[in-house]
Amino acid sequence: MAGSIDVRGVSHRYAGVADEPTSALQDITFTARAGEFLAVIGPSGCGKSTLLNILAGLLAPTAGETQLGPSAHMPQRDLLMPWRTTLDNVAVGLEAQGRRRADARELAREHLESFGLAGFEQHWPHQLSGGMRQRAALLRTFLVGRDVLLLDEPFGALDALTRLQLQQWLRERCVADGKTTLLVTHDIDEAIALADRVCVLSPRPGRVVAIVDIELPGVRSPEVRLLPEFARYRAQLLRTLTAEAWPA
Ligand code: ADP
Ligand code: MG
Repeated sequence: MAGSIDVRGVSHRYAGVADEPTSALQDITFTARAGEFLAVIGPSGCGKSTLLNILAGLLAPTAGETQLGPSAHMPQRDLLMPWRTTLDNVAVGLEAQGRRRADARELAREHLESFGLAGFEQHWPHQLSGGMRQRAALLRTFLVGRDVLLLDEPFGALDALTRLQLQQWLRERCVADGKTTLLVTHDIDEAIALADRVCVLSPRPGRVVAIVDIELPGVRSPEVRLLPEFARYRAQLLRTLTAEAWPA
C-alpha cells in the first residue's frame, strides 16, 4: 500500500577491511502502516542508521527485503550543502521536485520562521549553530513532500527546550499531513512522546526485541510526559533495553 513500510528478514553485515566483518543487523522484520508514526529505538551501534540507509536505498542489505513508497531521508549528519545559503538548502527538495527556484524559495521562506530560522535565510551553513543546521535539514526533508519520512536522530544536537518544541511540531505535522514516519532515536522519552508504536532493537547486531503500542492521545503536548501511562511506558522500555544490554 502506498505510504506503508515493510521490512522482512533484513540482515546486514559490513565487510571488514583488515579485520572481521561486522554484523550490524539480524533478521529485522516489522511494518509501518500508511500514516503511522513508528519509532525505532536501540543502543548506540545497534544498526539504526544502517537500517535507515537500507530503507533509503543507499545500501543493499545482505539478506531480506524492504518495500516502501518514495521517501525523504534525513541522515544522521545533516549534510547541508556548504555552497548554498540556508534558504537555498531548505528549498533544494522543492527544486528537485521540479518547482521553479523562485517558487521553491517563497515556500521555504514561509516555513523558516516556525523553525526558528527567520533572519538566517542568507547565512551559510557554517555560520549556523549545530541545532540550527539540524532544523534546516529537518525542514528540507519535510518540504520534499513525500509520504514516507525516514529521520535519523533528527533532534540529537538540539537544546532541551527547542527539542520539545520541534518534537511537538513534527508529530503534529506528520499526523495532519498523513505522513508515514520512521524516527530513529536512542531517547526513550522522545520515542514515547512521538510514536504510535515503538520498535526496540537489541545491541549489535540489532534484532527486534519488542514492538510496543503507545496508547496516548493523538494530539501530544509536552505535558503528555507527565501522564502516569507515560511513566509506565518509560519503565517498560527501559527494562526491555537494559535487559538486552546486560542479560542476567
Ligand atoms: P547506530 O546508528 O545504531 O548507532 P550504525 O548503523 O551506525 O549504528 O552502525 C552499526 C554497526 O555497524 C556499528 O558497529 C558500526 O561500527 C558498523 N558500521 C557502520 N557503518 C559501517 C561501514 N560503512 N563499514 C563498516 N562498519 C560499519
Ligand atoms: Mg546512527
